[in-house]
Amino acid sequence: AKEYRGSFSYKPGVCVPSLELTRKMVAYDRRSEPRVGERVPYVIIYGTPGVPLIQLVRRPVEVLQDPTLRLNATYYITKQILPPLARIFSLIGIDVFNWYHELPRIQKATSSSRSEPGGRKSTISQYFTTLRCPVCDDLTQHGICNKCRSQPQHVAVILNQEIRELERKQEQLVKICKNCTGCFDRHIPCVSLNCPVLFKLSQVNRELSKAPYLRQLLDQF
Ligand SMILES: [Zn+2]
Ligand SMILES: [Zn+2]
Repeated sequence: AKEYRGSFSYKPGVCVPSLELTRKMVAYDRRSEPRVGERVPYVIIYGTPGVPLIQLVRRPVEVLQDPTLRLNATYYITKQILPPLARIFSLIGIDVFNWYHELPRIQKATSSSRSEPGGRKSTISQYFTTLRCPVCDDLTQHGICNKCRSQPQHVAVILNQEIRELERKQEQLVKICKNCTGCFDRHIPCVSLNCPVLFKLSQVNRELSKAPYLRQLLDQF
């Protein structure tokens, strides 16, 4: 989060996350301009390589709502965590940047963020594109792989268990949240960025969004 200094106190063309977000928010709702001095929370997400950092600035709530946006771990490690570490470790002659670059890493395909807001994919096709069997996680083109299809009881047990486990987790997190807000209306969601379970809950909700797809697969047995 950074302080917002008012729309007239920035030089034209300057790249400031809080100003960038404010512009977007005001375009959507004029009343949402932060007060001068108010801190505007933001996060940096992954984007196509070469895109200026300022275009990767999002409000935290946007990242919670859009499963295609991922927090830019590389940015946070190299820009936020390593510099202070480097200052400490340089005292004893260790170069942490070098050490970070030598670490082996897994390449994940970066899902490019979609620009059109209305283009939300349906849940079903979203999971078909993963092409993984929800039972054994092997690659397959048919939802449930042929190997698992030959054991329908096993499929039913595993999928039912998975759905139940997710629902149980969700219920527990919602309980924690409600204890804290004191609000017992299911339709008023907690949106506090300081909520200790907000991100866990959003993760579980995201995973639970595949439950209808799993149930649909179950119906075939
Ligand atoms: Zn399988
Ligand atoms: Zn909460």
